[in-house]
Amino acid sequence: MSVRRVYLLEGGYLRLNRSIMIAGGDYGRTELGPVYMVLLETSEGWVLIDTGLNPLGVSAPEKAWGPRAKAVPPTLCAEDDVRYRLKQLGLVPEDVHRVIHTHLHWDHTGGNRFFPHATFLVQKAEYRFAFWPDRHFAGPYMRDHFDCGVKYELVEGDVEVMPGLYLLFTPGHTPGHQSVLVTLAGGRRLLFTGDAAYTMENLERTLPPGHLWSPSRGMESLLKLKTVQSLSGALVLPSHDPDLWTRFPPSPRAIA
Ligand SMILES: [Zn+2]
Repeated sequence: MSVRRVYLLEGGYLRLNRSIMIAGGDYGRTELGPVYMVLLETSEGWVLIDTGLNPLGVSAPEKAWGPRAKAVPPTLCAEDDVRYRLKQLGLVPEDVHRVIHTHLHWDHTGGNRFFPHATFLVQKAEYRFAFWPDRHFAGPYMRDHFDCGVKYELVEGDVEVMPGLYLLFTPGHTPGHQSVLVTLAGGRRLLFTGDAAYTMENLERTLPPGHLWSPSRGMESLLKLKTVQSLSGALVLPSHDPDLWTRFPPSPRAIA
């Protein structure tokens, strides 16, 4: 049992304030941060990490995202639909039997409804909070995105999903955030931070993203990721790094 190949599926962009990307950073200056999904070919079948932005937003942004369509305007085209990205690889949603959620924010759950046959792995703390979030953190949770009849399997803490595929509990951005450590058959390691680190700068400067449910837990999780990076030698892929597509090719090419 192992992970054989890894693909990054393009999912559009968000115009993000620098102060959201880096705690305390350049308030008022914005940058385009990519949204992407990760597809893993494993010996147990296809596994997807997150489902991207809601493709309804291409034609009807306010219907898809409400006030966030203007507050954090996405740049999205029809090809950024997770179903289209799978099709480019000769796959259909039914080929994906498992989806891992870093967390349940809107830009990570927009395609959930296309995978009614799959099992979604999410931290119990995240699942609970998403249904009844604190009022001032409710905006990024869009219930019609994640409460759409899909089957969730709740996990707690650090979990080995299969040999070579590990979930690392990294709360702070949200109460039940998790990151994903992948070890390929040849030993190469990749660390998908999710929103525990939006950019490489978060790790390099040891500054968490500005959007934090708990600043202290966010800092602890960032330090945990740096420790895992240093001990494992993993290549780190943050969630919304403006330089992502200069570092890695998008699908249909594999990055590993
Ligand atoms: Zn988020």
